Amino acid sequence: MKRKLGGGGGGGWGGTKMGFGRRLPEFITGSSSNKFTVTAAAAFIVLSLVLIATVCSPISYLPLKFALSGTKPPEQTCESREQRSSYLKHRSPELPPYLLSKLQEYERRHRRCGPLSESFNTTSPLGTHNDSAGGDCKFVVYTPSQGLGNRILGLTSTFLFALLTDRVLLVDFSADMGELFCEPFPNSTWLLPGNFPFRSDFYGGWFRDTYSYGKLLEKKEKTASDSSSSSSPSPSSSSPWNSTLLQIFLDDKYSEYDKLFFKDENQGFLEKIPWLVLISDGYFIPCLFQMQYFRSELDKLFPNKSTVFHQLGNYLLAPSNQAWSLITKFYDAHLAKAEQRIGIQIRVFDPEATPTPLVMKQILSCTETRRILPRSRQSNETSKAVLVASLSSEFYQGIKNRYGGRSGGGEIGVYQASHEETQQSYKSSHNMKAWADIYLLSMSDVLVTSGMSTFGYVAAGIGGVRPWIVTFPDPKDHPDVPGWAAVCERAVNLEPCFHFPPWFAYPDEQGTASGGAGLVNRCEDVPWGLKLVDGRNRTELQ
Ligand code: GDP
Repeated sequence: MKRKLGGGGGGGWGGTKMGFGRRLPEFITGSSSNKFTVTAAAAFIVLSLVLIATVCSPISYLPLKFALSGTKPPEQTCESREQRSSYLKHRSPELPPYLLSKLQEYERRHRRCGPLSESFNTTSPLGTHNDSAGGDCKFVVYTPSQGLGNRILGLTSTFLFALLTDRVLLVDFSADMGELFCEPFPNSTWLLPGNFPFRSDFYGGWFRDTYSYGKLLEKKEKTASDSSSSSSPSPSSSSPWNSTLLQIFLDDKYSEYDKLFFKDENQGFLEKIPWLVLISDGYFIPCLFQMQYFRSELDKLFPNKSTVFHQLGNYLLAPSNQAWSLITKFYDAHLAKAEQRIGIQIRVFDPEATPTPLVMKQILSCTETRRILPRSRQSNETSKAVLVASLSSEFYQGIKNRYGGRSGGGEIGVYQASHEETQQSYKSSHNMKAWADIYLLSMSDVLVTSGMSTFGYVAAGIGGVRPWIVTFPDPKDHPDVPGWAAVCERAVNLEPCFHFPPWFAYPDEQGTASGGAGLVNRCEDVPWGLKLVDGRNRTELQ
């Protein structure tokens, strides 16, 4: 849980330039009449700073507030934000004007209410609804669950919920995720301070039992049915119903009561709770679109429903300078020179049902039948760089043996950035490699991903590359597909699939769901999942 103080930006914070090698303020470089005095003053200040820098540990540069709370100050520069457009060829940088203005309004709110603001110190999640501490600031704290792909989808969905409900998004990143991203909101931080009340309880059963909205609804129903009186239970002032903090539990193991979060009639009550702690491992945005409560605002924010994740994900998630260095070094060394980059993401969930040789066959069948990679060499081919992303090195070896080092036409280089063998999502260095792989995949011209994998959804969505998804067919549904073969279909758009929607979110036989016609479909790769579709334009980006 320990946070690294000092950030990646050389000890400065906010908009104030305090670090070395930075431009001096204008009053020092200014008028020529005082040039000598001013130059001497400048030299003195610089020398003093150098001296201080030499004798002090980095923590001395931090305002006391950071040093005490363990909050990390924002990085000064985010290299990936400045450079990524030349790497992500299919990214559409244009945001719809209304979304843009909403994000600007959000940034102002985050600055006004966030952990670096004065008002934050007076905000407390310990109290009752009626306490005025913190003014009109309301928060939603994202608490991650599962692997990095799952977490990124849950986080992005939580951010949209924050936008819709005028809340401030804070994140509970422990050491395993703290170094992956640039601070998204200028002159502030999104990191929940280390000493926040209940923080160590967020993931435990006690916290869920006491504070989760679903458990409260469940208890309320039970009390009502147990009670001989017909009146509904009236919560006492000490009851969690009056608390300033509630948990919203949207993990894949959520209960029927937790799912009631997605019912319009419950949002009015939640609106009054200043602190929500939301745990999620999935892309629940399709269900927000289905709620009348948010629908008209969402329609204004996203005229095109097939690029919601693409737009929000790119706004929110820029690789930290450390991650960016890893990503660009690999890209420049191996992928930059090829005329075409092909990303192949291979995720094996059940090695017994889908052993390596079978998966290898299925992937090659996809790449060859779809003419992504050539069955045989032709002289006029473009040079290709193939990035294989997988926990194991076996697939990389298999693809390299088949294609690598061929000469004649364009060269085919086959590369792998890492092979971690097992998932270790609690480890920072492991997540850094996972983030690097996701981002490298998103820089592809053509992308092949594994069905059901959130890792693949994020790569495709960030990059704006509509992937070919390889799925393992159920013989009942695909009697025409031989047992060893896979289905390899182009995704209808860039939107991730929500794997665990509540029962009431499914479209009825006419294809309409509660939110209206043509808005959600069953996913290509997960028949029980739902994804956003744009009835008007299904294939916005290439
Ligand atoms: P999903 O399980 O496929 O939906 O994706 P997640 O990202 O949620 O969880 C899988 C985790 O396993 C990742 O976050 C990584 O930690 C690890 N992992 C899986 N595939 C790869 C890969 O191709 N490269 C790297 N570096 N890690 C991977």
